[in-house]
Amino acid sequence: MSQSSRELSAQVLVVNRNLQAVHITTARRAFVLMFTDIARALDLAWVSHDFDSWSALLPGGDGPTIGTSRGPIRVPRVVQLVSYDRMPRTSLRLTRRNIFLRDGYTCQYCARRGTPRELNLDHVMPRSRGGPMSWENVVCSCRVCNLKKGGRTPPEANMRLLRRPVRPRWSPVLAIAFAPGRPAEWEPFLASLPGARELQTLWDQGVGALANPLAESA
Ligand SMILES: [Zn+2]
Repeated sequence: MSQSSRELSAQVLVVNRNLQAVHITTARRAFVLMFTDIARALDLAWVSHDFDSWSALLPGGDGPTIGTSRGPIRVPRVVQLVSYDRMPRTSLRLTRRNIFLRDGYTCQYCARRGTPRELNLDHVMPRSRGGPMSWENVVCSCRVCNLKKGGRTPPEANMRLLRRPVRPRWSPVLAIAFAPGRPAEWEPFLASLPGARELQTLWDQGVGALANPLAESA
């Protein structure tokens, strides 16, 4: 990969008109959005620039640039959509992998962490008694705890859940934004995202990397 094509694949955070993070794109796509005036680049002071004003900025600091016939142009870290002010509705699909991810690949009864092969899905209210497959009724469990619990509820089996299972609030599209090594310019936009703390914890535990790319489960 040449220098320029690597810079063009760099990730760029897309925010809406209200400065809420809505998506991650590539620098290549961000330049297209700017060139067509669908988006404008935000500089460090959150001043927005259209393509012409952005390309007139002098490359500064240690940020990446791409070479063009007009000279080097800075690769934006954040672009703002000009007319979009909503939040896309992206909910996480109820899949085995996403339940493991929500629970940090950790048995919700004994707190042991495992690989996907060592883990099971456990219906808190057993299936045999009408317990549904839902975010609120299915948790990650190790095989030992799953076997021990059998067709009983946790109180009947004298077992306790680490925490009450709920539907994650975070967007699978933005989960990748919390990967280590992200641009510092993203931080103010990430902190206010729904489920930001859970996502940060997943990445801190190395779980996010394990499930990468999260966007696939969108
Ligand atoms: Zn267990």
